[in-house]
Amino acid sequence: MCWLVLFTFTQTSLFYKTIIFLLTDNHGRKINYLRLAVTDRCNLRCFYCMPEEGLNWLSRSALMTYEEMLQSCALLVKMGIEKIRITGGEPFVRKDIMKLLTALSELPGLKELTLTTNGVLTAPHVAELKRIGVSSVNLSLDTLDANRFFAITKRDEFGNVMKTLDELLKHDIEVKVNAVVMDGKNTQDIIPLVELTKDLPVSVRFIEEMPFNGDGHVYAGLKWDYVRILDEIKAHYPAIKKLDDAQYSTSYNYQLPGHKGSVGIIAAYSRTFCGTCNRIRITPEGELKTCLYDNGVMNIKDLLRQGINEDDLKERLLNTFNNRVKDGWEAEHQRAESQGVHESMATIGG
Ligand code: SAM
Ligand code: SF4
Repeated sequence: MCWLVLFTFTQTSLFYKTIIFLLTDNHGRKINYLRLAVTDRCNLRCFYCMPEEGLNWLSRSALMTYEEMLQSCALLVKMGIEKIRITGGEPFVRKDIMKLLTALSELPGLKELTLTTNGVLTAPHVAELKRIGVSSVNLSLDTLDANRFFAITKRDEFGNVMKTLDELLKHDIEVKVNAVVMDGKNTQDIIPLVELTKDLPVSVRFIEEMPFNGDGHVYAGLKWDYVRILDEIKAHYPAIKKLDDAQYSTSYNYQLPGHKGSVGIIAAYSRTFCGTCNRIRITPEGELKTCLYDNGVMNIKDLLRQGINEDDLKERLLNTFNNRVKDGWEAEHQRAESQGVHESMATIGG
């Protein structure tokens, strides 16, 4: 369902005409956030995301081109998308990614452009990110211990990630640190990561591990859900305070008295936030996903290559938004018979 609301009103001698597009789905949820994964390739091998040998990387022709991404984003912004997050794979391993980011930053009507990165190659681009208006970056960092970083990611890049953290803070870019909590791998890092919020104005968000590991290992079920993560933090910091969560927030947010930063917990596996889900995804292959757990609902790249015109593409998009699953459980159930959830998160974007 898509509502076009036209407000016209006069005020003394001024005449304002404001057109507001409200994009909503068949469950009445607003859709205003697009996550665009620009590549499946990555320079790390995070245990929970892909096997050590990597994936069968997509060929260049299977990837959306930057032109196709821009065209799709421009249309979606016209339809009501207000925020775009660039993700991957690792966005900075795709050639000329700053060109795409710069072009997106100039899209009329886009209110927020942001990205998620592992920070390995990001530091040299931070000044430019600031210049084009990127005001917030999600940095993935599951441990503050260089050896454990190597054990989790199979790459010796801890120093470069910390350099990126430094640069982001130096340039006054809001930082959200994403840490996936993995049983037997990094639960000893929960408290040191919370400690990071003492002196740094960062939001550290603990994410439940999901089964999107590219078949690298068998998913043994979730041992550290959001309740257990919170219990662990509360046991160390009984004075922890609940913060108000922003609209559409996927994290439950907290702060410790006297700490500059905050702590969040994202129930990504427990899926407690589907009722207000405002996001859609486009994969590196151009597959539109209206739920993280669905199998893709339409391929935008293929339609563009078949020469679809803008009106028809818009119609197709509205149709998919009008047939959106209720929640991640329904989406997972729908695909369970063909193939369960096992693809790498690098092919989705998180
Ligand atoms: N390479 C970039 C990075 O790591 O920030 C962007 C892509 S990555 C797929 C996006 C986010 O998904 C990261 O914060 C990562 O920690 C998270 N992620 C990947 N696999 C996951 C899994 N199996 N469960 C939960 N989160 C996962
Ligand atoms: Fe790469 Fe990000 Fe996946 Fe880690 S989580 S392997 S950094 S895409």
